[in-house]
Amino acid sequence: MNERYSRQILFREIGLEGQEKLLNSRVLIVGCGALGASHSEMLSRAGVGTLRIVDRDFVEFTNLQRQTLFKEEDAEQRMPKAAAAKKRIADINSEVAVEAIVADVNNSNVESLIQGCDLIIDGTDNFLVRYLVNDACVKNGKTWIYGAAVSSYGTTMTIIPGRTPCLRCIFEDMPDAGSSPTCDTSGVIMPIIASVSAVQVTEAIKLLVGDDTALHCSLMQIDVWSNDWHRIKLASPNPDCKCCGHREFEFLNAEVQEFSAVLCGRNAVQIAPPRPTDLDLASFASRLNSSTPVKQNEYLVRFEVAGHEVTLFKDARAIIKGTDDVAAARSIYAKYVGT
Ligand SMILES: [Zn+2]
Repeated sequence: MNERYSRQILFREIGLEGQEKLLNSRVLIVGCGALGASHSEMLSRAGVGTLRIVDRDFVEFTNLQRQTLFKEEDAEQRMPKAAAAKKRIADINSEVAVEAIVADVNNSNVESLIQGCDLIIDGTDNFLVRYLVNDACVKNGKTWIYGAAVSSYGTTMTIIPGRTPCLRCIFEDMPDAGSSPTCDTSGVIMPIIASVSAVQVTEAIKLLVGDDTALHCSLMQIDVWSNDWHRIKLASPNPDCKCCGHREFEFLNAEVQEFSAVLCGRNAVQIAPPRPTDLDLASFASRLNSSTPVKQNEYLVRFEVAGHEVTLFKDARAIIKGTDDVAAARSIYAKYVGT
């Protein structure tokens, strides 16, 4: 063990004692896209004993520009990301146990997923899952590390229930469907993934070795293209916060209605957002234009992605043709419309 981890043990803040703590830790990685793949690689090389990796998607060629764990062969075989990550980590560090879970994170499984984990690190691409994880972690007193990146900018924050503000203290409500850019509409460059993941993983290692005084205690915002690095110092948790103040776990208890998905006709699925919105179709279409051909009128936007025709209406409802698999349709919606 000492040889493999010798340079990390020499780093005084970790040392032999810290390394032993890492080897005895279990971390849940929620989502194994770009951020999650980067977290998985760094945490496995650092010697975190057990990684539980949950992801619902398959590897695609468009992932390979930034999702460092995956290879062309994974995309050709349409390997589930969690399974491909497990295989690759076995090559990187065979001492790490990987629990690969191919699943959609939802209110029925999120609490069992966090069970037994020392901390949770965010690698997801959608807000609904983050609000669910926030509810589950606040309810169960688990630390989680929020992270998000798109285009050349990203954000991260470490949430220790009872000590720091939670996600809903800062961002009270989830953004409306279709209102935020996604990596599949606005693009993303790998350096922002590496930067946000580096901050998240460093926070994870500090927590696992018990060096809480070194945490950055802020909402950190990074733009690697415009060279802006901001840290907004965080105050105490908001006593009026629904989640950590009043302990009302709306997402966990499904009081906030989830996205509904219904089969409509042959080979098509309709996805509807939890609350009606009034999408600005023109600005949505202009975000899409660079990535895919778009047809648009005042009622809808229609575009094609990966063999699927997506029709998006003004109320943010979408019909996705070319599949009768609800999970696949939800994934396309999250990527191209954004949740
Ligand atoms: Zn809160």
